[in-house]
Amino acid sequence: MAKKGPTVMLWRRSLIVLLVILIAGFGSVTARLLYLQTYMAPELQKRAVNQQLADTTISAKRGSIYDRNGKVLAQSATVWKIVIAPIFLETDEERHIVADGLAKILELDSEELYKKTLKKSYYIEVKRQVETETRDKVLEFAKDIKSKYGIVQAIDTVEDFKRSYPLNEFAGSVLGFVGSDSQGLEGLEAQYDEYLTGKPGRIITAQNAIGTNMPYQYQQKIEAQDGYNLTLTLDETIQRIMEKYVKQAIVENKVANRGCAIMVNVKTGAVLGMAVEDSFDPNDPFDIADEKTKKEIESLPENEQDQATSDALTKQWRNKAISDTYTPGSVFKPVTTAAVLSEKLVDDDTRFNCTGSIIPYEGAAPIGCHLFSGHGSQTLTEALMNSCNPAYVQMGFMLGAEKFYQYYVAFGFSEKTGIDLPGESEDIFFDQDGVEGKMYDIDLAVAPFGQNFQITPMQMIMAISALANDGKLMQPYTVSQITDSDGNVIKSTEPTVKRQVISKDVADQVLAMLEQNAISGGAKNGYVAGYRIGGKTGTSETHRDNNNDGTDDYIASFAGIAPCDDPEIALLCYFDTPLGDSYYGASVAGPCFRNIMSEVLPYLGVEKKYSESELENLSTQISAYGGMAVDEASAAVSNAELKAVIKGDGDTVISQSPDPYSYVPKGGTVILYTDDSAESDTVTVPDFKGLSMSQASDLATQSGLNITISGTFSSDDSVTAEVQSIEKGKVVSRGTVITVTFEQKSNIM
Ligand SMILES: [Zn+2]
Repeated sequence: MAKKGPTVMLWRRSLIVLLVILIAGFGSVTARLLYLQTYMAPELQKRAVNQQLADTTISAKRGSIYDRNGKVLAQSATVWKIVIAPIFLETDEERHIVADGLAKILELDSEELYKKTLKKSYYIEVKRQVETETRDKVLEFAKDIKSKYGIVQAIDTVEDFKRSYPLNEFAGSVLGFVGSDSQGLEGLEAQYDEYLTGKPGRIITAQNAIGTNMPYQYQQKIEAQDGYNLTLTLDETIQRIMEKYVKQAIVENKVANRGCAIMVNVKTGAVLGMAVEDSFDPNDPFDIADEKTKKEIESLPENEQDQATSDALTKQWRNKAISDTYTPGSVFKPVTTAAVLSEKLVDDDTRFNCTGSIIPYEGAAPIGCHLFSGHGSQTLTEALMNSCNPAYVQMGFMLGAEKFYQYYVAFGFSEKTGIDLPGESEDIFFDQDGVEGKMYDIDLAVAPFGQNFQITPMQMIMAISALANDGKLMQPYTVSQITDSDGNVIKSTEPTVKRQVISKDVADQVLAMLEQNAISGGAKNGYVAGYRIGGKTGTSETHRDNNNDGTDDYIASFAGIAPCDDPEIALLCYFDTPLGDSYYGASVAGPCFRNIMSEVLPYLGVEKKYSESELENLSTQISAYGGMAVDEASAAVSNAELKAVIKGDGDTVISQSPDPYSYVPKGGTVILYTDDSAESDTVTVPDFKGLSMSQASDLATQSGLNITISGTFSSDDSVTAEVQSIEKGKVVSRGTVITVTFEQKSNIM
């Protein structure tokens, strides 16, 4: 009895545990087990001493992750688990044969493996994540030992899965990665783990423990259930463009502490791109991606390397866009602007005086303006465009602490945005005397221009998005849909309006100011000709000294929206500690913003719309180059941002096309003749009618003509060429400027 007892107990307990697990949803198995237990119980108990239950897990295939156009960003491929059932090994010789053979194929220690073969078990995992090629060798080996030694059932292979990210380091901070058991550890893999992971299946086998020739008592297989797939709001093309330019800005500006960019659809809160650089490769997340850091760690004493590696990994996995808090600086000024407009504290007659500094209240130290000589008397729009701190100090005191905090809360800074990614940080705001939001006068003096409190980049871009979304604050999200392996929609995300923060009227006013700011104010570096863009720069102190030069370092950022007449997207570019020639938002983050917008807007199908003044800006009046040396004339043409084409072998320019003093569109071509071929160098004017701007531009280039675009376009409809200044078929000199007038297509279907 002493020997028999525990075995019976174990067998019973196994049965009960199984019943509990299987009771929901697996009726047939449950019924079978109930039958076994109820009707066969006495018989089974009698046999129990010779029986064991083998319970094998079948891995579930983890769901895939797609971009919004169905491009695969993460997927699971089949690999294998190699398992042994040492219970079927009867002699020590057999154990050694199996241990040595498998150890060789799987590159394992044969002594360790031999120890495992000593266990009386049906299921011991020997190695996981084995590629199919190796698995085939294992199967071959199993066949071999069967025919040679009659060893059967001792080796098995079970399907398993391996996570892979086909685009490598692409969107690493957003996607995250999985652990050795395919469990989500960071990013979306962690956030949506319960959906992605699926349900493992199992094989339950009751077998006779004595011999290999006894038949199974019963076997039940429960198929694994694949995990659900995620479709993201991220767009692979947009994300690539963003990553490219964020990386470029980090290199060009010697950014010490990484950078990021976030783009959202202002109307829905859907995140179109989130570039965090330098990132890591989710295929190999434990590898230090930054070569410089890697080398630094290797040069450390051995006992310090673990900690340094751990710190470096934490840093590279950190999603700066949502986990960092930073002092926003002047990017915050549009929020203060919206607050004073909403409270009707400012009208067209209001003027803010700047003498170069301001004493915010009696007894306080003066707060300086970046323009030492002062901006003088300014309207609200001018104060924003000048990014004049003294003007914003005045606005703070017009509002008062309570109202200021009210708008801070309304714009979403006091709460997490609720984005569906792990690791989102809270803001850090004034809480004097332990009261959240309570501000002393010194706080109120600097907060309106975004100093001395901290928010996340994500919070900032959502507030800017609210300005571009008729004053409605949205909740950002990255997953638009969850589907099962048959494509059925399990869950889809509906855009969520958090609240109406300010009126549409006020939002439109601030938007107009931001557009003006990008055309002729401090945000000019973010301007893209042909597109209506609004933006604001920010340069803020970090109160850290990363390069030990004795001064605080800076964060350079730029936030903006486009197109201003009907905003679709908002973009924030953010660089932590630029140590290059400049640390200003305008020169570090502005070009990054412009570069991203200039590629993303055409990709999104937003047509260029030139204003009259832009059209003028787009042309250059050329000089008379006749009589000049070829080199000299060529340099003069280049200086005018035009291309020079030289015809003939002479040293002196004899004639030119277009004619002297005519207007040539920027980027156009001037032909300089050093021989008398000008008269015979002609081209035929093609038909531009019905073409889009880019098509017309391409055709003009192919035909050897310069093209000037004309027309006024207002709404978001696409435009087509309607009129051309020189009719088709006419023969003209190469380089002739032709004006093509574009008109808006009708809205009528
Ligand atoms: Zn000023």
